[in-house]
Amino acid sequence: MKVLVFSGILAAGMVALGQQPQHQAISGDLQAPVSGVSAGATAQGLRAFAAIEPIDTHAHVRRSDPAFNAMLDRLNLHLLDIILVNDQSPGERDLASERSEALEFIRSSGGRAVFCTSIDPYKMHNPGFAGHAIRELNQDFKQGAIAVKIWKNIGMEIKDANGHYVLPDDPALAPIYRDIAAHNKTLVAHVADPDSSWAPPDPTSPDYSYYQENPFWYMYGKPDPASKQQILKARDHIMEQNPGLRVVGAHLGSMEADFPLLAQHLDRYPNFAVDMAARMAYLAKLPRADAIAFIMKYQDRLIYGTDLTFGANDHVQEKIDTWEQTYARDWAFLATTETVVVEGNTAKGLALPEDVLRKILHDNAIHWFPGILGNAH
Ligand SMILES: [Zn+2]
Repeated sequence: MKVLVFSGILAAGMVALGQQPQHQAISGDLQAPVSGVSAGATAQGLRAFAAIEPIDTHAHVRRSDPAFNAMLDRLNLHLLDIILVNDQSPGERDLASERSEALEFIRSSGGRAVFCTSIDPYKMHNPGFAGHAIRELNQDFKQGAIAVKIWKNIGMEIKDANGHYVLPDDPALAPIYRDIAAHNKTLVAHVADPDSSWAPPDPTSPDYSYYQENPFWYMYGKPDPASKQQILKARDHIMEQNPGLRVVGAHLGSMEADFPLLAQHLDRYPNFAVDMAARMAYLAKLPRADAIAFIMKYQDRLIYGTDLTFGANDHVQEKIDTWEQTYARDWAFLATTETVVVEGNTAKGLALPEDVLRKILHDNAIHWFPGILGNAH
């Protein structure tokens, strides 16, 4: 059975490689394959990845599909399925429909996915906002939600009546944070963005193409934006006001380019951990010894996540290939000494010890997100 699973993954990997001729690779070729990971290494890596019973704490799945669920089974993978309200994205404007799409997927996943709900912050100045949001959250908790996400639109988009950017510690949101803590759920905070958003265009930045494609979130040159420091300070204020609230800072807590600052935060706030979603490139950019030292020191506070998505308009097999290639790449970077290309940054894999890999990919998620294994266990 194991051999069959192995061949299935290998076949999928090869199909995927065939679809991207600009990154041709053959088994054993470590020169310039997709994401720097050869097909052979992809299959082997995914098998090792699956053996750890990995948990991806940062995924956005809004669609139920048997082939996708089969991949979750094949990789022995658990997901935290996160929704958020984003008025810039036509499919993400309505909390209720996102909730039902996510819950439908979660119910179909055989216990492999659990729910991270959200609030609609665009309504935060409506009368009765907090009470209404809390009623909805508590309903979501009853339906199995284990976490609540706040997003960068708080700090980078939504303004108050005076035209000032609203910050994450706005008093209108305070009762919501208290409710999350009272229910022993986790707050996922993606607030602010990489430094690049506030800086002049830099083609060498890992985020350059993101801001080219998403100028809405490019704060540089906008009139009177909240500074990144102000936004992060407001996030820190939430942790100070709610010492009993677990806060997971998405994307290395938006301190991806400043590891000493991230270390300082992890030292100062015992209720704070970070996910590594979509910021592996920043670890790959560090000198290898520094990346290893940082991860070893904070091995209980770093949680694996990807920010992978699966939605209505996606081609199913292409998406499955992307998901598998991402996991294979991350595994190669974290667990092996292979040369890996992470979003344009070539790095030698970190070859972390197995107990540390297990913490990052499994144990820490269970600690910081109680209930994340759902009803599968
Ligand atoms: Zn995300």
